Amino acid sequence: MDKNFQLTGFSTAAIHSGHITDSEYAHLTPIYASSTFVFDEAEQGMRRFSGKEQGFIYSRWGNPSFREAEEKIAAMETFGTNQQVKAILHASGMAAISTLMIATLKTGDKVLSHYSLYGGTQELLNRILPPLGMEGIIADLRDLNKAEDILKTDPAIRMIYIETPANPTIQCVDIEELTKLGKKYDKIVACDNTFATPYLQQPFRYGVDFIAHSTTKFLNGHGTAIGGVLLGKDIEFMNTHLTKVHRILGGNANPFDAFLLVNGMKTLEVRMERHCHNAMEIGNYLEGHSAVAKVNYNGLASHPDHYVAMKQMRHPGAMMSIELKGGLEAGIKMMNKLKLCTRTVSLGTCDTLLCHPASMTHYGVPKEQREQFGITDGLIRMSIGMENVQDILTDLDQALKS
Ligand code: PLP
Repeated sequence: MDKNFQLTGFSTAAIHSGHITDSEYAHLTPIYASSTFVFDEAEQGMRRFSGKEQGFIYSRWGNPSFREAEEKIAAMETFGTNQQVKAILHASGMAAISTLMIATLKTGDKVLSHYSLYGGTQELLNRILPPLGMEGIIADLRDLNKAEDILKTDPAIRMIYIETPANPTIQCVDIEELTKLGKKYDKIVACDNTFATPYLQQPFRYGVDFIAHSTTKFLNGHGTAIGGVLLGKDIEFMNTHLTKVHRILGGNANPFDAFLLVNGMKTLEVRMERHCHNAMEIGNYLEGHSAVAKVNYNGLASHPDHYVAMKQMRHPGAMMSIELKGGLEAGIKMMNKLKLCTRTVSLGTCDTLLCHPASMTHYGVPKEQREQFGITDGLIRMSIGMENVQDILTDLDQALKS
């Protein structure tokens, strides 16, 4: 794409942004499978290390394959705005989130988060950070008055960390209102945008400081690689301290996974349209099913966070969870009867995936804590795929008859 071309569509940004024209003019950016980059002369190495000259040095520090992915994600997260942000690709979503915490917190700091959160992030806050003198506090951040009370009374809180829609209850918190509160009390605000993707929701529009993604999910879209990204709007901080922490912790991506991610992201818009269309039909079907006690899907008017979801998302997304009337036993039976949908963890791939959070993704979260926050033993999480929706419905229907 010519630098001067004024693009107007999200898909155009997703397809063209970040492309690197190599010396052979390859149509797709090649996979830069090289751990190091050569200096013309020793002085060039000195200039690169001192930052006087831009250029690649060593792939833990950066690589053209990563750069393409980073620029694409940054273009999507800021699409339609004039914002400038910097993205840094990581080995996984957890590497990105861990780097964020280590780079922004110090001993004595606390992180306030909503209670429904990916299990790995909960373990980071509950088990990994406390021995370093940092602590996670969980609350129902949908209650803004309560959130403000906590912020007012606990000056040790340094960061508000949100994930919306949240794993696995699909609860949504109000990004705009929480960011306003965060700014009022001078806190860092970070948002995990994995479930929504930048096509459905752009948290920088509401003023958050950082966005994290597990790119393993909808951004890659095909389940071919683990990856993560951290984006920040303070370019100076991203280019200095955060880059330093990222390089030293060593959570860098690898060129082949970056290549797979880049190709997946090009079709994000069309994929999300199909995912969301299917999810709405399945949500409606499950809500009326006699075997289903509860459907957590924010596209349904009955979902307590429907209004917030629709305020900040283009469509309600493709993640949902259900509670069967027969509890855990019925859930296990149903999962074992599936003939088309896949029994596995993870999410955001072309095929429909079902998992059991209590024994899988949230196994490391204490049972009392899980149950208190709606992650019951009977909860089944579903990532709705892009199959013909009738086929998904047929499979769920026969499995629910059990
Ligand atoms: N954030 C969310 C919302 C997730 O669902 C996950 C993984 O399932 C992660 C972060 C961690 O991502 P990764 O597995 O790529 O480290």
